[in-house]
Order: sequence, then C-alpha cells, then structure tokens
Amino acid sequence: MIADLRQIKAISFDLDDTLWDCASVIRHAERTCYEWLVEHAPRVTESFDAAALLRRRAQVLEVQPELVGDVTKLRKTMLEQTLAEFDYGSDVAEAAFNAFYVARSQVQLYEGCIGLLEALSQQYSVAAITNGNADLSLIGIDHLFQSVHMADLDNPAKPHRFMFDRCLEEFDLPPSALLHIGDNPQTDVAGAQALGIQALWFNSQKIVWPEALPRAQFEVESLSEMHELLLSTE
Ligand SMILES: [Mg+2]
Repeated sequence: MIADLRQIKAISFDLDDTLWDCASVIRHAERTCYEWLVEHAPRVTESFDAAALLRRRAQVLEVQPELVGDVTKLRKTMLEQTLAEFDYGSDVAEAAFNAFYVARSQVQLYEGCIGLLEALSQQYSVAAITNGNADLSLIGIDHLFQSVHMADLDNPAKPHRFMFDRCLEEFDLPPSALLHIGDNPQTDVAGAQALGIQALWFNSQKIVWPEALPRAQFEVESLSEMHELLLSTE
C-alpha cells in the first residue's frame, strides 16, 4: 500500500491511548463514581464493593451485547439498573454517570500533545475518530479539532468503516488524502487501511505488531517522533 505524506490533506486521531493513557483515567473515573455513590446512594455501596459494581458492566453486556459499541449507554444502563434495584431513580443514575464522566475527562495529555495538535491544525484538517466517549471540550482541546466522531448505537465502532466514511465526507476528500493515527492495530490501522486510508501506528507501548495484519504505512513510538515525521518535511 502507498505511503505518501504529500497526498495528505487531513488527519484523524484516535483518542484513548493515542493522546493520553486510557486505563489510568478510567480507573480514576470509576473510583470517583463509586465515591459519589457512597455519598448519594449508600444502599448500593453497602451491598456492592467497587469490584462487584464493575462486574455489573459485564452482566449488562451479556444481556445487551450491542452496547459494547456505545460505552456511554452501557455505563448508564449499568448504573440505572443497579440503582433501580435499590429504589433510586434515574435522576440519581444520571448524576452518578456525570460524576464518572467529568472524572473521565481529567486526562493527562501525553507530553507535546497540545503543541503537536496546534501545529497540525495549521496545515491540515484535523478530526477525532474514537470508540470511547471522552469530552474534548471538558479536556480543553475541542478547538483543535474540526470534526469529532464518537461510536454509539448509530455510529458503529472502528474498525467498521462508518466513522471513517463520515470523516471523508465531511472533509470532502478521497481516502488517500486522509491519514489516520491510532494505537490499535485492528481498529485503527486495519480499519483505516481497508478503505485505502493511510495509517500511522502510534506504538508508545512498544508492543509487537500482530503478524496476521499488514503493517501501517508509518510507525512512531512517541509524539515527538510523530511531530518530526509530519511537520519537518515542509
Ligand atoms: Mg486507542
């Protein structure tokens, strides 16, 4: 597959584990949500410790597997069902979700992230294509993206082509003019390449590329390396 940065007019970014570490912020948000429940819905936390509450998520998925593509709806459903069992209303579930969601946006951006996005947005159209639910305005970087695509029940998650197609339509570009950047070999790299979109694999975890998949056109292990690759050729 071609690897030609000169054709690139737009860049789409995965978010979780591409611009910040995901696992640590989700752990923090789940802790924050549980502490909120201790205070506002104690009948739940008297019966469920934090780990037991998290297992409810898997139980919801067993009954409604389609929610795997909509992480917001999945967590709201889990909270609503659990709180309802203890006679708390949907307003309490909504507030508990908000406690989670605000904390979920307290991400630690990787070093150099803002500078890179600022520089790229001078030269390219920049989009976000995420299977997660981070709120870019709460994070304070929404002004650096012209377009944001988030998976939910109506927007199938990557590697499905839906959000990639929407991004190309919005920018009115052919696939070869988009570069998608992400950490996941399957959802980001293979998903983009299936449509003829060039892919940059952000491998900050230094994992081994899965042999069964064709490699990305570009690979970097840090944002500074990415900066150099994308901005030093002009
Ligand atoms: Mg990711």
